[in-house]
Amino acid sequence: MAETTAHAAETEHELRLRIQELEALLHSLRMRLPNPPPDAVRDLAASEERFALAVRGTNDGIWDWDIRTNKVFFSPRWKAMIGYEDEELPNEFSTFETRVHPEDHDRVMQAVNDYLYGPLERYAVEFRFQHKDGSWRWMLARGRALRDPDGKPYRMAGSHTDITEQKLAEEQLRHARLAAEAANRAKSAFLANMSHEIRTPMNGIIGMSELLLSTAMTPKQHEYLLMLKNSAESLLALLNDVLDFSKIEAGKMELDEQDFDLRHTIADTLLALGVRAMQKNITLRHKVAEDVPVMLLGDDGRLRQILINLVGNAIKFTDRGEIVVSVRIESRALDKTTLHFEIRDTGIGISAEVQGRIFDAFTQAETSTNRRYGGTGLGLAICRDLVELMQGRIWVESEPGKGSTFHFTAVFGEARHDSVEKPSAPSTGPLLGLAEKPMNVLVVEDGRVNQLVAAKLLEERGHRVQIASNGQEAVEAVRQENFDAILMDIHMPEMNGFQATAAIRQIEEKYGGHVPIIAMTANALKGDREQCVAAGMDDYVSKPIHSAELLHAVERFMHGRSAAPPRLEITGLPSVAARARKRVPPFKPEAFIAAAGGPEMARQLVAIYAEDSGRFLQEASAALAAGNSVALYEAAHALKGMLGVYTATRASETASHLCHLAQDGDLFGARALLEKLKKECSKLGTALAAIPLDASAGG
Ligand code: ADP
Repeated sequence: MAETTAHAAETEHELRLRIQELEALLHSLRMRLPNPPPDAVRDLAASEERFALAVRGTNDGIWDWDIRTNKVFFSPRWKAMIGYEDEELPNEFSTFETRVHPEDHDRVMQAVNDYLYGPLERYAVEFRFQHKDGSWRWMLARGRALRDPDGKPYRMAGSHTDITEQKLAEEQLRHARLAAEAANRAKSAFLANMSHEIRTPMNGIIGMSELLLSTAMTPKQHEYLLMLKNSAESLLALLNDVLDFSKIEAGKMELDEQDFDLRHTIADTLLALGVRAMQKNITLRHKVAEDVPVMLLGDDGRLRQILINLVGNAIKFTDRGEIVVSVRIESRALDKTTLHFEIRDTGIGISAEVQGRIFDAFTQAETSTNRRYGGTGLGLAICRDLVELMQGRIWVESEPGKGSTFHFTAVFGEARHDSVEKPSAPSTGPLLGLAEKPMNVLVVEDGRVNQLVAAKLLEERGHRVQIASNGQEAVEAVRQENFDAILMDIHMPEMNGFQATAAIRQIEEKYGGHVPIIAMTANALKGDREQCVAAGMDDYVSKPIHSAELLHAVERFMHGRSAAPPRLEITGLPSVAARARKRVPPFKPEAFIAAAGGPEMARQLVAIYAEDSGRFLQEASAALAAGNSVALYEAAHALKGMLGVYTATRASETASHLCHLAQDGDLFGARALLEKLKKECSKLGTALAAIPLDASAGG
């Protein structure tokens, strides 16, 4: 009995399965052999015709995939798109799958899967697809699935569009854009270098006219000279704007963060601007909300610059009334404080249409503005960039005739030294009085003007100054006499500052001692400091020479080296002090032979050294001359690799450093470094040639 029941159940189950199979078959037969009423047939034929026409018109290939059998119908056009006749390709899924580029395969299959069984709403995917001739075409595949009442897909159909041309065009566009961006950066770097170079003689002009003003002259002469000095100063201000702007554009602007007293900075800045406001009879007020911290961490120099620009504009464009600067906290989070600055004036205002443009470079409200008020239209562009560097934003609200309110926000850190006392603000004017202890200073500088300015500054403080006009003379002087500090120009004829420093360090290696060397350079771009450190210098001042900065740099070394920790700590590069302790090992022949795996290989390497290094150095020089930082990078990179083979650590490091400069587009800095690298390479060549490695020594 039980047996019969079991048997019956089994049969019933079997039957159910058969029915299900038949239903499925019927379903698919219905799909293939529709049997609709006659007018529907007509409609269907018409719509199929339309469809075929449309398909032919679009140039797309059509596919229709029966998911359950894995058979795929590929239209003749689908096959023609990849170079095949209709009968040449089997109608199977693998015909599609095997032609997808190996790098795109998984992504495409994932897309199919995610569309059929996953979250994807639409199937549209781009991939490379192999043509009969072996080449790759870019395809765009789109499709839709048909699903049974349970949502399970049983069929999917769609199209292939050849988008190769479009992809190529996109690629070309991307290349063109990159090239244009690189060119723009190169131009900005050039501008930055250029304006720096011009600042040096400008400094001479201003410095000399200041000196001249203190001598006896007729009132007329005095008046002319004052005009000369004023013109020079406004030219310098303009240069500074161009320099800042191009530095930002070239991506070389960095914030220099330190603790500062915000109220102090604001009061100080407004004090300087107060004279101009007073002359125009405008009130200049400021208020800082009480909860704003006393000490903050940030770049107060750049903050000053923004304030000077905005308040300066407010004064320029206001004839009566008042200007109010206010500061409040916008938000606080952990150790970050976002401040909101507001500069409100009662001046001429800015029309709505112009408001959107004034933060762009070289824009002024109207062309007549320039003639009436002066200016370059760079100020607000620089402010915007500086504010962005400070992770803030800048905007304006204004009504013509009523006045303007400029707003900006900026993020500051928590002061490292949590003191309520004011930090000793660096004095911008000349330091008065005599130094504690006179020092013996060597000034190495080829320009007469800068010689005079530096010497005068130092002598007024009671220091003894000796002048050398080039590197050679400096090295001579160091042989003769002990100095407490050396101020070293970089670009000099005969022997430049880097070479002279190297020569002095060499003398010291022999006889002991370490004289602090402070570089003076007009080129204050990123990468300079690294280069000065790498050359063995201790500190760095930028030209034009500021009295306070110069004296500070020199007098740091007043009580010997120990009292003056190196200021130039650069991440990634050991500091001067660390370098002195842990010198890069000089080239060791044994190490090289061992690394080469024996004398035979070493001999071959020596034989090709001169040719290979010569070639790469030449390539680097050519790239530099052509201003091509990419080619320079490649040559330096090749050198770095090959020097490594010769275990020439020092030279290889120099090459690596050159790579960085090339990457930064700092072709100016690269020039000096390439010279150094050439020397190191030639030294290495001499050392290699001196290794006794004749064939008989092999084995
Ligand atoms: P500029 O060196 O010409 O002053 P800016 O970038 O600082 O360049 O300013 C651009 C323009 O925006 C100015 O020429 C002026 O037309 C307008 N502008 C800026 N600040 C004000 C202000 N406070 N009131 C009226 N107009 C202003």
